[in-house]
Amino acid sequence: MFEVVIGLEVHAQLNTKTKIFCSCATSFGEEPNINVCPTCLALPGALPVLNEEAVKKAIFFGKAVNATINKKSVFNRKNYFYPDLPKAYQISQFDIPIVENGELFINVNGENKRIGITRAHLEEDAGKNIHESNFSKVDLNRAGTPLLEIVSEPELRSSDEAVAYLKKLHSIIRFLDISDANMQEGSFRCDANVSIRPKGDTKLYTRVEIKNLNSFRFIQKAIDYEVKRQSEAWEDGTYEKEVVQETRLFDTSSLTTRSMRGKEEAAEYRYFPDPDLLPVLLKDEFLELKIPELPDEKKKRYMQELGIKESDAEVLISSLEMSRFFENLIAQNLNAKLCVNWLNTELMGLLKGELTIENSPVDAQKLGNLIKRIEEGVISAKAGKEVLAYVFENTEISIDEAIDKLGLKQVSDDSAIEVVIEKILNENADKVTEYKSGKDKLFGFFVGQVMKEGKGAFNPAKVNEILKSKLG
Ligand SMILES: [Zn+2]
Repeated sequence: MFEVVIGLEVHAQLNTKTKIFCSCATSFGEEPNINVCPTCLALPGALPVLNEEAVKKAIFFGKAVNATINKKSVFNRKNYFYPDLPKAYQISQFDIPIVENGELFINVNGENKRIGITRAHLEEDAGKNIHESNFSKVDLNRAGTPLLEIVSEPELRSSDEAVAYLKKLHSIIRFLDISDANMQEGSFRCDANVSIRPKGDTKLYTRVEIKNLNSFRFIQKAIDYEVKRQSEAWEDGTYEKEVVQETRLFDTSSLTTRSMRGKEEAAEYRYFPDPDLLPVLLKDEFLELKIPELPDEKKKRYMQELGIKESDAEVLISSLEMSRFFENLIAQNLNAKLCVNWLNTELMGLLKGELTIENSPVDAQKLGNLIKRIEEGVISAKAGKEVLAYVFENTEISIDEAIDKLGLKQVSDDSAIEVVIEKILNENADKVTEYKSGKDKLFGFFVGQVMKEGKGAFNPAKVNEILKSKLG
């Protein structure tokens, strides 16, 4: 009887080398207050200078979601005081953001749905407050890190849709390589605006903002909890009292939300254009920037040009690292389907726990060498699995060394195979006669005998070829 209305705001930390308004490094995990300068410490007289790379990355995003890229955008001051924000205002964009009116398509339960992206704007991140028992500390390394805030239309109707949207957004951002989008480190975090309304109603009711969600699972749980809380209040007749416009925090141990503070209205921030920064006017060459291939396009290309099955293509585009690995493999002129099998099934089957495609002990070059040896018939596919398991554990050993060490080289030498074939045919003269009088099925018998005699080391293709010529 209720319809759920969800809008999401995502903060993606852009992976520029330096901060958005100064030349301090953006590196993560350094000693506190190392990457700071007069600008990001807000010392009097220090002036901001816009980082061109951050602008380019915002444009990349706009293009990827079919958005309007505003040739002119404006930086505003958003005024509020918090110890991790030394200027007492955040430089952000307000009424004229760099990106507006985009879209993104999600698929939930087999249904395609378009979700509007209202805007994406550039802003600076704040520092970090660390509260200890009787004092607080502030680390300003993060202050001034470029953020792209991406705001969706309130068009998501369930926590499943919200998660699908976020996963899609995450994937696009990774393939554009504009952010490392590492959720644990907070470089891709989400605020969810959640409200409910009676089905059929078009008006928007009171929304609650849940802050700083940084895992897909928590986002799902937080929304589900909030929807339940609001619908129960509606049914109990306590909606007016219980559901107020506010910011809530998600408690990851109890999986509930609790009130943090009343939600500020835009007017309370006293936005005004930052007099230290001129409006951003984009040159045409910026608008013509070409963006990297997106996951959906890659998937289509893998299927159409390389003949890869949809389910396999999905695995290949599951992360930027995975698709890079695959593309490094096929760049070695190998059979695409063979590459898919060795990557998706064999190598992925070995990657467990801490090991992922990013830090795989076997890189694309090495796996490519293995596939090459199988294609050439130097080893059988079965032996290939043994070789892969061996080099996976012994990273300093090359594929060819492993083949030698394990003694898995197939015999492709014609004369060695011929000797055995002669022997088998002589021993089975009666069967040869039967074969020649039309009992074709015996061919398999001869192959089996030869392979057995060769102790599995013969190249089966060679055996077939020589047998056929011998039998006429
Ligand atoms: Zn700085």
